[in-house]
Amino acid sequence: MGMSAGYYLASKGLHTLLIDAFDPPHSEGSHHGEPRLIRHAYSGDPVYTKLAIGAHELWNEVEQLTGESLLVQSGVLNLADSNLFSYRERIAQVEELAVHTEWLDAAEIRYRWPGLHIPDWFAAMYEPAAGYLHSEQCVKAYRKLALDKGAELLTNTAVQKVKARKDSVTVYTHNEEYHAGAAILTAGAWFSTLSPFVQLPIRAVRKTVGWFETSSPAFDSGQFPGFTLNAREGSYYGFPSIGDNGLKIGRHDTGTSWLPGEPLASFGSYAEDEADLRHVLEKYMPEAAGRLKRGAVCKYEISPDENFIIDRHPVHPHVWVAGGFSGHGFKFSSVVGKLLADLIADGQTSYSIQPFSLARFNDQSDIT
Ligand SMILES: Cc1cc2nc3c(=O)[nH]c(=O)nc-3n(C[C@H](O)[C@H](O)[C@H](O)COP(=O)(O)OP(=O)(O)OC[C@H]3O[C@@H](n4cnc5c(N)ncnc54)[C@H](O)[C@@H]3O)c2cc1C
Repeated sequence: MGMSAGYYLASKGLHTLLIDAFDPPHSEGSHHGEPRLIRHAYSGDPVYTKLAIGAHELWNEVEQLTGESLLVQSGVLNLADSNLFSYRERIAQVEELAVHTEWLDAAEIRYRWPGLHIPDWFAAMYEPAAGYLHSEQCVKAYRKLALDKGAELLTNTAVQKVKARKDSVTVYTHNEEYHAGAAILTAGAWFSTLSPFVQLPIRAVRKTVGWFETSSPAFDSGQFPGFTLNAREGSYYGFPSIGDNGLKIGRHDTGTSWLPGEPLASFGSYAEDEADLRHVLEKYMPEAAGRLKRGAVCKYEISPDENFIIDRHPVHPHVWVAGGFSGHGFKFSSVVGKLLADLIADGQTSYSIQPFSLARFNDQSDIT
């Protein structure tokens, strides 16, 4: 989020300083272990679908600017046990926003993707224009674009404290202080380290993902789509085998809390890290349940309602906070960076950010 905001700020001619505790892309936060799904068809408030469409356009723009291939339009198949969940309503909602989806019954799903062994009571919403992003390449691309536009980047430099006055912000690192007219805080899983300046209701959670050997070309990229799966076993998502990587699968629900400063247990520290993923593969995609080729751990930063937080600091309106991306934010990072830069430089954005306001947590957030 920060790297993208940095590019759009610098491209508006603003003197831009980016500060990161590590050297992005890195494996300490939420963006590594690519790829990431980019879906357009969100339910509920149409703001997500509108943002996803805008984000997709910007990713295409970044591809053109850098010559990098970042977004693969593989299609995304959203599978669900019909006893638990139906996509019918969402299909109707997003049709109004010109997002094309298909409702598929189990027989059609098995016919199109023979690697899927799903029972008759499953159905799916298929999004042909959706796909996945090479997230680490995306961060690299925005980093390059931001620096090319004149932004400065301090890596391996943690912000230790933030202070604000009426029209200025001061950011303190271990040996320096930096003064600015405005600031954007995008601290991911580390927002609590910026307390007491900002205290957001965000819980960081350890997440695991695995790449499994496949024994059928049915799971190869070009054949198999990105997917989500809502079943009795839980809520999962995954990707085709890209190159020789194996099919990637992760679980969206569950996860153990993590606090900044604590070590993050590596993949395999708990038997369920692999077992939980393997169990679902054995049941629904048995030819993708081969040897574990690689496992990784990553962090979600979850807001209480799993909706984003994008708002002004209530006491210091020239400071913006963007966090709580709750395991579904990456696809939006292009458009979130752009809208934050628009808000700072022009005082407005064409997107509604009202659903992301801090006011919805009035009795839970404590901002000083
Ligand atoms: C396993 C997994 C799978 C996911 N799958 C998807 C998906 O399929 N689709 C999707 O859209 N999203 C997905 N997400 C979510 C998405 O990756 C995140 O929402 C997104 O990366 C959040 O971006 P961010 O910039 O807020 O956080 P990060 O990418 O973690 O960046 C935060 C940055 O802030 C820096 N920082 C923090 N504190 C400080 C400080 N005090 N001083 C200086 N720097 C600091 C960190 O070093 C870091 O670089 C997934 C996440 C995970 C973990």
